[in-house]
Amino acid sequence: MKNLIYLLITVTSLISCNNQTEQKNSVSNPNEPMSLQSIKKIDVHSHFRYDRDDLSAFFEKWNMQAVLVDVAIEEDESVSRSWDKYIDLEKSHPSIFWLCSSLIGVNIDDPNFAEQEISRLKKEINDGAKMVKVWKNFGMVTKDMSGQFIQIDDSRLKPIWDFLKTQNIPVIAHIGEPVQAWRPLDDPNNPHYNYYNLHPEYHAFKHPEIPSYETIMSARDYWIEQNPDLIILCAHMGSMSHDVQMIAERLDKFPNMYVESAARFGDLAGQDSKQVKAFFERYQDRILFGTDYGNNSLQSDVTSEGLQNEIEYLDTNYSRLWTYLSTTDSVEIRNQKSIGLALSADVLHKVYYQNAVDLLGLD
Ligand SMILES: [Zn+2]
Repeated sequence: MKNLIYLLITVTSLISCNNQTEQKNSVSNPNEPMSLQSIKKIDVHSHFRYDRDDLSAFFEKWNMQAVLVDVAIEEDESVSRSWDKYIDLEKSHPSIFWLCSSLIGVNIDDPNFAEQEISRLKKEINDGAKMVKVWKNFGMVTKDMSGQFIQIDDSRLKPIWDFLKTQNIPVIAHIGEPVQAWRPLDDPNNPHYNYYNLHPEYHAFKHPEIPSYETIMSARDYWIEQNPDLIILCAHMGSMSHDVQMIAERLDKFPNMYVESAARFGDLAGQDSKQVKAFFERYQDRILFGTDYGNNSLQSDVTSEGLQNEIEYLDTNYSRLWTYLSTTDSVEIRNQKSIGLALSADVLHKVYYQNAVDLLGLD
């Protein structure tokens, strides 16, 4: 499939670290003075597909762990996934990574669809999946036999949600796109300018057959409302990252809804820092740290210079987000100049770590 959307970054290179004894279940103390090391972190939305010699050292340096989020993507005649790669990586680094499975609506017309997907998910939960990802192919890409785009509130999916509720497995939902996808992209400073230039297939403005932003968002909201016992972690700030007020309205309305930040810090930085800070403080128990960072090639296929660049890219970008969240420094994210939020150690501890532990039942 040509339309992969991931940020393709990889990790390696030597990074010194003093202590490799970090365990998944150690908890940082929110009362100790704040520093990069003192706040434990979980990147709840990552795509590290391949091992690197120095992956452990990198995560150790950042006092960080990560959830490896699989995505099921519709290809011409099949569905492509990275699940097996993620399983391998998690097995190599069980103290760093957790797994997230995925679900797509291909074959939804088959009367056995739900049953088959449930039996697959059962196996993958058994193999370690802590969460299940649904992607924007619900709503924007995959159609059923009647030719309709399958929306996430489709009743044929209901048995799957019911099953996940019984397992206490949350769904991470990347439904829809930022609202800018439905608008012309004239401004190179738009935080999504590069993405839609690279992936015009998701620039809905150019594809009038794709349902409207409002249609997809109302299906998403209706789905959350209809499944109050299903924990739903809305990826990418719920595709409403341009306006924290819109996210706040949903969080107020839906107690089972959470949001994570992957690839949307640019949109946050484009808004007034005081308002964004107030949003993080008010919803400090409902916001999780995620990035969309990862890698997409075997270490043996990347030159040593490439590997060096990958690790520097990761280090620079995780640093930038840390600066934005924890200081009042000036910061520029995806062409948006802003002032950092200077969140308290307590709020940082929840957003970076504790909310993910609680939501995914990590131990
Ligand atoms: Zn992602």
